[in-house]
Amino acid sequence: MCRKMARTAMPEEQRARLREVDRLRNARGLRAEGSLTQDEEDTHDILTNIAIQRARAAALEYLHRTQVEGNDDSVHQAHVCVVCDCFILGTEILTRITKQQLQEHKERLSVTKYEEFQGKHLHPNVVRYYHLRGFPGMLLSPRANHVEGKGYSCCGTCKNSMTPRYRDKKAPRFSIANGFAIGDFPKLQYVNDNGEIQDFDPEIDLNEVMRALFSPT
Ligand SMILES: [Zn+2]
Repeated sequence: MCRKMARTAMPEEQRARLREVDRLRNARGLRAEGSLTQDEEDTHDILTNIAIQRARAAALEYLHRTQVEGNDDSVHQAHVCVVCDCFILGTEILTRITKQQLQEHKERLSVTKYEEFQGKHLHPNVVRYYHLRGFPGMLLSPRANHVEGKGYSCCGTCKNSMTPRYRDKKAPRFSIANGFAIGDFPKLQYVNDNGEIQDFDPEIDLNEVMRALFSPT
C-alpha cells in the first residue's frame, strides 16, 4: 500500500504524530530494529495500522460505488455523467446533480443551442436518444443513473461548470450539448449469404475502432 495514499486519508493530528515517529527514526540514523523505544515502536505500529485500514476502506468505497442499490453485492453498473455521457471510472470524482440544478441550465444544454452553435440540424432519432423524461428540449445522457433524493450521476468536470454563474455561458466543454451528440447504433437485421436473416448487434459486432469511424464527431 502506498504510504503517501494512506496518509492522505488520515486526520492532520495523526499525520503529525506519524511524521514525528518518522523523524525520531531518521534522527537516530537508522530504521534498524531497536532504534526506538518500545513506546515509540508501538505508536508507530498502531498509526501504520490505522493508515492501512483507512486506505483499505477508501479503496473498498471506490470498488463498491458502482454497486446497484437494492440488489445483492454482485450487481454493479458503471456510472455515466448525465451532462457529457462519459463513464466515471476508478477514482474519478463522482458527484450528483439534482433535477432542479439541471433545469436551471435548460438553455445551454438545449437542442436549440446545439443546432445554433454547430450549425446543423440534429436527427430526431438523436434528439430522442438524449431525451430524459422531465427535461424537454435538453440533451442529456440516458445512461446516467438517478438516485432518489440525491440526483443524477455527474462527473467532476461537468459539475464544476453547472453552477449558476455559468448558466448563460456556452455548454460545458465535453458535454453532449457541445457537439458530442453521437447517439447510439440501432439494432439491425440483415440477410446473410445463405439467405438467412441475422441480427446485427453493434455492442457485439462492432469494435470500438469501427464505432469511432462511424461517429459523426
Ligand atoms: Zn461530465
